[in-house]
Amino acid sequence: MRDLSLLTWNEVRETDKSRSVVFVVLAPIEEHGTHLPLATDILEGECWSRDAMKMLERRLEVECFYLPSFPIAAASVNEFYGSIHFSMKLTYEVTYDVLESLCYMGFRNIVVIASHADPQHQIAVEKAVRKINKKNGLCVIAPMGQIFMGVSVEKSSELQKLEEEQGNDYHAGWVETSCMLCIDPDHVRDVYQKLPDTEIADKDMIFRKRQLKAMGEYGYIGSPKYANAEIGKRLNENCSASICDAVEKFYYREGYQKYEHYLLYNILPLHIGFWKIAGKVRRKKVSA
Ligand SMILES: [Zn+2]
Repeated sequence: MRDLSLLTWNEVRETDKSRSVVFVVLAPIEEHGTHLPLATDILEGECWSRDAMKMLERRLEVECFYLPSFPIAAASVNEFYGSIHFSMKLTYEVTYDVLESLCYMGFRNIVVIASHADPQHQIAVEKAVRKINKKNGLCVIAPMGQIFMGVSVEKSSELQKLEEEQGNDYHAGWVETSCMLCIDPDHVRDVYQKLPDTEIADKDMIFRKRQLKAMGEYGYIGSPKYANAEIGKRLNENCSASICDAVEKFYYREGYQKYEHYLLYNILPLHIGFWKIAGKVRRKKVSA
């Protein structure tokens, strides 16, 4: 795999587009509690992409390329200290412009890794992907929305059991803390072992104020204290394997459809963020 941005323009032009796959990570710089860094989603997206690219190069006769990650994302809860969010409209436009540029270079297998589960982000990214594919023929897939919804290669029964027992773990809880412990334990502050569980019901996750309330003074939603590196390894492996499965199927243009469209895309009220006033990023000023 190679960083596409380190090639010269004529080297890019000479790559065999029919045997190339390009990965693009789009994720936010965003608070992740008092125990994980702001770049958590970016680091996760880069880890999952890297491992998926390694697998793809072993399985298919392709060369994988990637770009420096774009720290750009939309989110429904913006008020917490430390986050840099963008509107759905801007996220959509940046995604569109990046994809159109790659598409015009001739790449036909472009993979967007939107490693931030917020529906606003997934919808903004998918809107851009749909428009590009409609205009240029199928050349992009953004599988993370569906992977976050549970579409994946088979999970171990142990992982499934954990997810059932420790559900409602949405943001910087045991799932993300485990993933980060596996990626690099130096990024995880020890305080995670002592953090209390937050309480929120599935249905409350669509209400911004209820999310904010559940985040309290810390900024996570879930149970960080159950995290460990071994679970993180399995979670990361499952995610990379699912991405690899989606891209392999997409490459052959067969069977990829279950990863193609984000399940929540058709819920129209979730598109309200594209409106000018409703979609304003709500930043909160804090005096020094
Ligand atoms: Zn995250």
